[in-house]
Amino acid sequence: MSNLKLKLVHLYPLFLNIYGDIGNIRVFQKRCEWRNIDLTIEQFNIGDKLEPDTDIYFIGGGQDRQQVEVSKELQKHKNLLTDEYNNNSVFLGICGGYQLMGEYYQPHDADRLEGIGILDAYTVAGPTRFIGNVTAKAEYIGEKNTLVGFENHSGLTYLRGDTTPMAQVIVGNGNNGTDKREGARSKNAFGTYLHGSFLPKNPHFADYLIKLALKKRYNDDIELEPIDDTIENKAHESVLNKAY
Ligand code: GLN
Repeated sequence: MSNLKLKLVHLYPLFLNIYGDIGNIRVFQKRCEWRNIDLTIEQFNIGDKLEPDTDIYFIGGGQDRQQVEVSKELQKHKNLLTDEYNNNSVFLGICGGYQLMGEYYQPHDADRLEGIGILDAYTVAGPTRFIGNVTAKAEYIGEKNTLVGFENHSGLTYLRGDTTPMAQVIVGNGNNGTDKREGARSKNAFGTYLHGSFLPKNPHFADYLIKLALKKRYNDDIELEPIDDTIENKAHESVLNKAY
């Protein structure tokens, strides 16, 4: 029985949870449970009080109108979330949630939506929707370094400063369909356009994030017990290098 504990806060699940993004929460929950890591999961919705000292923050995707509500609300918590980012909390944002981790998102028919700016990135709505499977490569996660998912966004995201792509696009559009970048990373904050949901088809990336969270909490590189990912890897291979 490990004495390891982690806390995860799911930001705005009532607003940003499109295309089954809650599946990412289930992966954190089960991959910690299978290793006897005591993961506390809290949902955080509009009007709730946000507390510091959380190890993992998750925010899912959504349509422009949900993003309008969340963007306004997020500004109340921008300073706390920035402090958490500076303290190496892990953030994972999917699509609409990813866009609001940047400086701003400019939709087609709404005023500019302010983000929290922990990613040095900005997004503008483009003329077409990118819809389809994506395969990308994140060489920093080790030998098994392909990431797969499903994209459905009109937003075009551009990275600036020290913010790097989460992965390089192999198949699909990624951030903007031109610079072959998928997602973003700054410190332990990650954003991606990969729905699907993302982590169930990419268990190796889920473990990478869990290890980052444990390092933040215990200041130690804690090895995770291996898990039989036969089914997860079959799901990964089922879309690997396929556009549709
Ligand atoms: N509304 C945003 C866009 O279209 C995000 C969509 C999403 O979260 N799938 O780019």
